[in-house]
Amino acid sequence: MRSVVLERYGGPDVLNVGDLAEPRPTPGEVLVRMAGSGLNRLDVFVRLGLTGPGVRQPRALPHVMGAEGAGTVVEVGSEASTELAPGDEVIVFSGLSCGHCRYCRRGETSRCASYEILGEDVWGVQRELVALAPTSLLRVPEGLSLIEASAVPTTYTTAWTMLMTTGRLRAGERVLVVGASGGVSIAAMQLAAQAGAEVLATTRSPDKARRLARLPYVHHVLDSAEPGWSAQVLEYTGGDGVDLVADAVGAPTWRDSIRSLATGGRLVVCGATGGDRPDISIRELYQAHRQILGAPFGGWNDFVDVVRMIQRADIRPLIHASVSMERTADGHRVIENDEHIGKVVVDLS
Ligand SMILES: [Zn+2]
Repeated sequence: MRSVVLERYGGPDVLNVGDLAEPRPTPGEVLVRMAGSGLNRLDVFVRLGLTGPGVRQPRALPHVMGAEGAGTVVEVGSEASTELAPGDEVIVFSGLSCGHCRYCRRGETSRCASYEILGEDVWGVQRELVALAPTSLLRVPEGLSLIEASAVPTTYTTAWTMLMTTGRLRAGERVLVVGASGGVSIAAMQLAAQAGAEVLATTRSPDKARRLARLPYVHHVLDSAEPGWSAQVLEYTGGDGVDLVADAVGAPTWRDSIRSLATGGRLVVCGATGGDRPDISIRELYQAHRQILGAPFGGWNDFVDVVRMIQRADIRPLIHASVSMERTADGHRVIENDEHIGKVVVDLS
């Protein structure tokens, strides 16, 4: 069985297509033939063997990559508690949890003490076949291709959690998405516009600014290459600022993100790709009733809600590129060099 395998940490070239034994599902599991897997910054961090505060312990190598994906059911175990049948197209949820603690019972699975992420803590989905409990699977919404669906689970669950569960977005509010070209940012802008918010985006690239401005769910684009770019936000909003900022960049952008917030505004954080030690003023926060909220990924409850939203609102992931399993390293390069608008997907078919 072909798989994207990591045998040592390093640059994109350490990724190999390996040959692994096919998984044997237990009677309670479902066997899925994977069609695609969306790449995330997480894949890059796993490949590099990133360590530090808030990062999971190093995993045993060799390791199979891939947090999110979609595929087709090929076999349902005799004791699997599910209505799924061979031939059904499914999205694979990226989180695994104990299933019985108080958080799991509420569906808040990402708060579980034994929470694990596919492709980070345990072997991932970038392989031909995966055996999983049916509690990890949801049907693909009608109208989405399997490649599009493979860009949904981590990406849209994270965006939904940031905006809705943690950020408590309301219709009519203004949302600013910082560094707006990645998969989670695009998803956040689609969902925010659908929820009735006015959507502002920042990018450092003039070319990306032109392309973002053409997207129907982006209402205004700002140039974050300009020092003190929060002045542009205040000018555009008549001095009010925005109600919610979604910032996954971190240290380089936090100061302007906070200064972009209205009185009582919320900065919601799902990553720190640019560094995790920002230089900010605590007084600028509390004096203006502003809040900083952490939203790492999301739970099964968020996943179910966002998949239903995708179906009902006809939302489609924006696919920047699809690469073969052999070219996974090229996909990593695109993400590391920040060349993309939307998702890079590994085609596993
Ligand atoms: Zn639990």
